[in-house]
Amino acid sequence: MLSSVFMDDFRNEFSWSKSRASVFKECPRKYWFNHYGFWNGWLASEEDRVKRIYYLKKLLVKELWIGSLVHEVVAFILRKFRFGEVISLSYATAFLKKRFDSDFEMSKVKEYTGFSSRAHKFFEDEYGIGISDDEKGKMLEKAKRCLRNFFNSDVFMEIRRTPVEDWVTLEDFLSFDFEGTRIFLSIDFAMKKGDKIILYDWKTGDERLADFDLQLSLYALYVAGKFGISAERIETRIFNLAIDKVDSFEVDEGKLERMRGYVRGSVLEMKKLLRDVTDNEAVEGDFEKCEGFWCSRCNFRKVCLEGWGS
Ligand code: SF4
Repeated sequence: MLSSVFMDDFRNEFSWSKSRASVFKECPRKYWFNHYGFWNGWLASEEDRVKRIYYLKKLLVKELWIGSLVHEVVAFILRKFRFGEVISLSYATAFLKKRFDSDFEMSKVKEYTGFSSRAHKFFEDEYGIGISDDEKGKMLEKAKRCLRNFFNSDVFMEIRRTPVEDWVTLEDFLSFDFEGTRIFLSIDFAMKKGDKIILYDWKTGDERLADFDLQLSLYALYVAGKFGISAERIETRIFNLAIDKVDSFEVDEGKLERMRGYVRGSVLEMKKLLRDVTDNEAVEGDFEKCEGFWCSRCNFRKVCLEGWGS
């Protein structure tokens, strides 16, 4: 439970992340719900609509959920390995299956409130779309395939051969200051190799290559600053676990500079819509709704569009 002293200091500070920028581009109103409208929705004394926004914010579409589950299991395997415990593929698969089943069960519970950090509800269940047994089976198969590919990969072999002292410790959520704005990011794995740092990102879906470049440039920007190294000493790799494919991306100073420009521009655009930049005050009506393209897969339909009720 958060102490009242802490709660008094707990403010919605402006920050930036790649996913925040993507949501802003998709639909400014969705961005408002995600980063402003939900604030304080965890408090019993808050208005019902705010609580509703907080609840809807936590829904996960099935594709995102299965990706995060695979990430979680791979992180678990690596964490154990780091401390000398070798996890077998069958153990990891059983671990995954347990989480898979319990989240499916939890998503059906009507009393779901979104308040517990382990709470889970599918977007598809909230909006009556449902997930058929066939889809569920395919999701489980895909998750198992991702794990299998990880276990059998040269990447995992290389990681295991690298002394753990050369693994670069990374928190789940990293952040750094960029020209006065806190930037958040999350790097799946990193290790030293000779005089280089190699950054890995696990993928499980069909993300576009152009987005990878942006994401990896952001990682490189963080690592270059944190370790005080030049861009040429950073290598970035995407391992798509679903199709067992590794892509390497070169980093150079030019890319880092373009990334700085991109973040700068994106921060400016977001701040332009604020009523008060110092207090990070945002008013719902100032954030336009998109023209419908993103609505069919949007968590906030129930509080945004007519006809969805509550
Ligand atoms: S329902 Fe549509 S307009 Fe409303 S926030 Fe979502 S994407 Fe934007």
